[in-house]
Amino acid sequence: MEHIVIIGNGISGVTLARHIRKLSDKKITIISAETDYFFSRTALMYVYMGHMKFKHTQPYENWFWKKNRIELLKAYVKDIDTDHKILQFADGGNLNYDKLIIATGSKPNKFGWPGQDLDGVMGMYHKQDLDNLETYAPNNKVCNRAVIVGGGLIGIELAEMLNSRNIPVTFLVREASFWNGVLPEGESQMINNHIKNHHIDLRLSTNLKEIKSDENGRVKSVIIEETGEELACNVVGLTAGVTPNIDFLKSSKIELGRGVKVNRYLETNIPDVYAIGDCAEQHEAIGNRRPIEAVWYTGRMMGETLAQTICGNRLAYKPGHWFNSAKFLDIEYQTYGWVFAKPREHESHFHWKHHKEDICITVAFNKDTKEFIGINTFGIRMRHEIFDKWLTEKRDIDYVMSYLKDANFDPEFYKAYENDILKQYNDTFNTNLTAHKKSWKRIFSKA
Ligand SMILES: Cc1cc2nc3c(=O)[nH]c(=O)nc-3n(C[C@H](O)[C@H](O)[C@H](O)COP(=O)(O)OP(=O)(O)OC[C@H]3O[C@@H](n4cnc5c(N)ncnc54)[C@H](O)[C@@H]3O)c2cc1C
Repeated sequence: MEHIVIIGNGISGVTLARHIRKLSDKKITIISAETDYFFSRTALMYVYMGHMKFKHTQPYENWFWKKNRIELLKAYVKDIDTDHKILQFADGGNLNYDKLIIATGSKPNKFGWPGQDLDGVMGMYHKQDLDNLETYAPNNKVCNRAVIVGGGLIGIELAEMLNSRNIPVTFLVREASFWNGVLPEGESQMINNHIKNHHIDLRLSTNLKEIKSDENGRVKSVIIEETGEELACNVVGLTAGVTPNIDFLKSSKIELGRGVKVNRYLETNIPDVYAIGDCAEQHEAIGNRRPIEAVWYTGRMMGETLAQTICGNRLAYKPGHWFNSAKFLDIEYQTYGWVFAKPREHESHFHWKHHKEDICITVAFNKDTKEFIGINTFGIRMRHEIFDKWLTEKRDIDYVMSYLKDANFDPEFYKAYENDILKQYNDTFNTNLTAHKKSWKRIFSKA
């Protein structure tokens, strides 16, 4: 029986295994060095914040794997001999495969800062990081201050986590405004204010120079690059992005770039070796997407797609329209299609912000054709299927503005803002559009 070996028990590896099992009787082994069972990485923060226990982050009961004949192996793969189709484990063991899938995810970036490996310095990626946080930052008596380095989505989650235990946080962000490489200016500014309003000491245009140690090898302070200021702290969170977790492949024959190089079929340069999830790097990016996509749903989609190929129906990875969602403290953020920090050639942005609350949207459209390109929403929940449909149908921005009520997905009795938004749109572009009432018939119609 063909033996399928998957390195990595995250969303991509586990989705792949589940779908291979649905489609075939193949022998499946999943290897991971991190945890015995699959868990939802995106939910780690809620464990620290006390909303759930770690076991609640595991979507499947422990019996699920045996029942579905998916073997789980806790081991660290240190080498791959693709000529003989054999894996070497750090503990000395080995394992043969017929087909191998690398689904090893990411690791937090470290940029060679002095002191980056001290006790109390951690990323926020693995289960071990959560354990470390419990050790070094259980409360504000043990941890008087934490310093977070790097202002992306994981950085702000870590700030929220520490804030939930009343641990003072200083947040060092290299950019002049929060996540301004991704967010348009109005949104980025709003998030700056939102962070400060949560009593987080946000330092923009600020870099880490060095992390200093006490006499026991534990972090005691950081030095700021620009000013030389020394900030006393007990924990340093390194959240300056992530990189594919592929160092163990460097001595193999598998082609690597920043990640494991794959084609549209998620195949590497070596026959019977594939890569999916955060660690896979497309030879050529798909549309405006990045060649490496470190997001949950694309890992799941790659797993579903590759299961077809492994089971005899060779299928290309086609992720469809870009979307994503996240949370900035109290603000929910969603994005559909493309809204770049600065409009590209032939593009324009329409931005609406609530006069008091941290609620706003930015809509990107083509200046010449008025085609709708994408939307960012903060504090208003929108319906994914609707924007997916409008992008497929290549609707223009006037249509999107007029039918925005169809897209609203906030719970019943939430305040609605579509009329305000449309009024500002009409004022700005000298149009006279009217807002259409929400229609369930339209909402459930297909593109
Ligand atoms: C705190 C946090 C919040 C996030 N929030 C969001 C969100 O809101 N939305 C979103 O879309 N994405 C989010 N992400 C990103 C998302 O979680 C990842 O894109 C996704 O989990 C990656 O899945 P994966 O299967 O590719 O890899 P992973 O989940 O990283 O799994 C890979 C596994 O392989 C193991 N492994 C690696 N190398 C070896 C080896 N040599 N031998 C054995 N095992 C090995 C690793 O230890 C790990 O267990 C978040 C990530 C973090 C860290």
